[in-house]
Amino acid sequence: MQLLPSHTSVIVVGLGPVGAALCNLLGRYGIQVLAIDQATEIFAAPRAIALDNEALRILQMCGVSEGEFETVAIPHVRMHSPVFGQFGQANSCGPMDGHPKLVTFFQPELEAVLRAKLAMHPHVQTHLGVEMVSFTQDGGGVHVSLKTANGSVFVVRADYLIGADGANSLVRRQLGHQFEGQSYPEDWLVVDAKKVPDPIDHVEFLCNHKRPVPHMVAPGGRQRWEFKLASHETREEMEKPETIRRLLAPWAKTEEIEIERVAVYRFHARVANRFSSARAFLVGDAAHITPPFIGQGLVAGLRDVGNLGWKLAWVLQGRANAAILETYNQERRPHVVAMVRLATFMGRMVMPGNSVSAFLLHGVMSGLRLVPRLRGLFEELEVKPAHCFRKGLFVGKGGPSRLRRGGLLAQGWVRGSLNARPLLSDDVLGETMVAIGFGVDPQQHLDPAVSRSWVKAGGRFVQIDPRGRSCVGTRSERWEDISGVLVPNYAPMGWVAIARPDRTVMHEGPATNVSRLISDSLRVLVNWQA
Ligand SMILES: Cc1cc2nc3c(=O)[nH]c(=O)nc-3n(C[C@H](O)[C@H](O)[C@H](O)COP(=O)(O)OP(=O)(O)OC[C@H]3O[C@@H](n4cnc5c(N)ncnc54)[C@H](O)[C@@H]3O)c2cc1C
Repeated sequence: MQLLPSHTSVIVVGLGPVGAALCNLLGRYGIQVLAIDQATEIFAAPRAIALDNEALRILQMCGVSEGEFETVAIPHVRMHSPVFGQFGQANSCGPMDGHPKLVTFFQPELEAVLRAKLAMHPHVQTHLGVEMVSFTQDGGGVHVSLKTANGSVFVVRADYLIGADGANSLVRRQLGHQFEGQSYPEDWLVVDAKKVPDPIDHVEFLCNHKRPVPHMVAPGGRQRWEFKLASHETREEMEKPETIRRLLAPWAKTEEIEIERVAVYRFHARVANRFSSARAFLVGDAAHITPPFIGQGLVAGLRDVGNLGWKLAWVLQGRANAAILETYNQERRPHVVAMVRLATFMGRMVMPGNSVSAFLLHGVMSGLRLVPRLRGLFEELEVKPAHCFRKGLFVGKGGPSRLRRGGLLAQGWVRGSLNARPLLSDDVLGETMVAIGFGVDPQQHLDPAVSRSWVKAGGRFVQIDPRGRSCVGTRSERWEDISGVLVPNYAPMGWVAIARPDRTVMHEGPATNVSRLISDSLRVLVNWQA
């Protein structure tokens, strides 16, 4: 085992899925990282089961492609009431931004993949069985006290500290940040089982107020059920195999089922009042915990990773002003709050307190389905808050606008030449800032001095053309949009977008304005002021 270093650029406390994803991303940017976890094994109890297309896209950014861990693509999510029958449905069929809209997965398998990938990054050092006990920060860095399994204490100095240390985060508590929100008073029993006859292929919520039950398919021949405990039921009683078999009886002759994992949880809806303080940052459950009814807890943690990872790298590599790190809290926190609100609303729908509120809530939802616009809100997932910033690290105003600045760039399949293997466009854009010309060479109208500054800052030029258009004479790397989602459906012909490494649109406009678009973007990075 390597010795603990006395200094590192970034220390990541907690190697759960969020910490491990961040270490992979920082490793891809070539940043020196020390990752520690007090546990020596991956947490095996049943937790996250669902990921959306955004989470899969961020994992792609971290170097994990979908085929590297098993998933089941979910075609729809259905909500049933004992009185009204099916009163809600969300259609999650088909892809968005190159990934299925909703999949289920096995969290320990994903965590194992993320940890295994760390070995590919020579600058990332991991130490398991090492606990953070305290830290202090000053203007120049963070001093972190670590305790190893044999009780020795080391102090490591780092430029930045990341608290990826879960819901009970010591980093958050030492920062003195409030964990605002509420904890649900009820317990839930989560059961993962295999060898289930007649398994379902989707997600369903059986919203009986007496015993609400979410039920879903998962990889490896698994099915998951979650049972809300009544006030008189105890954890010990509910975790007994005979109780579980009784609960599963409506789905199968119970001896056929192999019960794999069981846990009793209490859900929370809490968000830290700030996600950062000077050189310390909170990510994942350390920053927010979400009721699981819309499967967004880990997804939100992965969004944190995508947002913070490149900003840390750019600052550490001297390409951006350290003040841009303030925009992590500014960009991420409002979206997390909106997601937690939606999850809390869904929780009310799934577990109404009594028969009267069940009748009213489910009845209203059944009625709303008759209004096409409102039906679309739920069925086509439009109710899900868009990951689009109102304020943050982008050029919000100025010039004609056709894309959403501060929103996510679309992703599609592209190819470099006629018989080349199709690639996802994020993989082609790489781990840097990119000026993308849609159906146009982004360098065509570019001032050579601006071009030099862009290249010096690590920026690239890519041209994406519509399907079937052959183009010659471009100075930029050229790709064909074979899935047809990028141009002209997402961006008009002749348009240029400046995309951040996390694929947020930083600026956009007609190709004739490209020098201005690039200069404005570079200025934002270097002169950012909150
Ligand atoms: C029943 C249930 C269902 C869920 N379903 C979903 C879902 O479908 N989709 C979804 O997106 N999310 C879901 N979630 C949420 C998801 O599981 C969590 O958001 C996610 O696991 C959090 O990951 P994390 O890396 O932030 O924290 P954790 O996985 O908790 O990792 C924190 C790590 O920090 C380490 N640590 C803590 N303190 C210290 C210290 N002082 N020093 C060193 N190491 C330390 C711990 O050992 C741990 O390994 C669900 C959660 C539950 C409970």
